[in-house]
Amino acid sequence: MRRREFLAVLGARLSAQGPTILVHEHVVVDFGGTDKIGPGRYDPGEVLRLARPKLEEVKVLGGVRFQDCTPQFIGRDPALLARLADVVGMEIWTNTGIYGAAKHRFVPEFARRQTAGELARRFIREVARGVDGVKPRFIKTGVNDAPLDELDRKLVRAAAITSRETGLTVASHTGSGRAAAQELEILDEEGVAAEKFVWVHAQNEKDHSWHEKAARAGAWVEFDGIRAKTADWHLECVRFMASEGLLGRTLISQDSGWYHVGEPGGGNFRGYTYIYTDFLPRLEPAWVPKLMWENPRAAFGA
Ligand SMILES: [Zn+2]
Repeated sequence: MRRREFLAVLGARLSAQGPTILVHEHVVVDFGGTDKIGPGRYDPGEVLRLARPKLEEVKVLGGVRFQDCTPQFIGRDPALLARLADVVGMEIWTNTGIYGAAKHRFVPEFARRQTAGELARRFIREVARGVDGVKPRFIKTGVNDAPLDELDRKLVRAAAITSRETGLTVASHTGSGRAAAQELEILDEEGVAAEKFVWVHAQNEKDHSWHEKAARAGAWVEFDGIRAKTADWHLECVRFMASEGLLGRTLISQDSGWYHVGEPGGGNFRGYTYIYTDFLPRLEPAWVPKLMWENPRAAFGA
């Protein structure tokens, strides 16, 4: 009860600053790999029961949109997300695309064989027709470190073509500034503006000059994974971007969650409130609506 009251009071205060969007979180993740993954590996009802109160806390704190970044073949479950969105009364977005990071462990056989154009057609079809009745609202991909290999380059190219044809933004799990720069080159080759690219996990690049370079090129630099242990570094990253006049190219989120498929009871399902209770209060108040509302809408759409 005390936590609920605390969140309600904080929520009333935050609401004065306007609604917010969480651009990178997860409800379910299944690291089982492409040969194991499929329906029946968990009970959607159990996930719903565990996730619902965590999303309701976000809603109390002013969250109106939650972007679920779990890609297909790692547990993307649009039907479950739709049910959750319904019971909580919040927008939950899902994605299309294929994730090449983690040494291609989550790349299915067909994606190794098909061309970038063929993969893009598949993604574009998902956007047009929906997946389990839900239309993906962004493209999620992921690469290994630079220099990007052929398969990573192909997945990014497929994402770029999809972006060009659908207008959706590409969010890419990217380990370093060098890799982000190579991805931006591929977008450029496909005629896609850097504004359509989100460098996910930019906090893992410790050299701010890469953040600056990507943002000046027009890309979105996303510092996610915000939690107690890392908050000081995230704060420094945001302050750096502000000091360079690049707050308008900056995104923040927690990369939190999630129901761990294969672990008893879903394992340690972390919630989504830390950014509201602890991180946003450390920022200049004027930055909050920019980082949590204007930028997410500019980056991914309204
Ligand atoms: Zn993530």
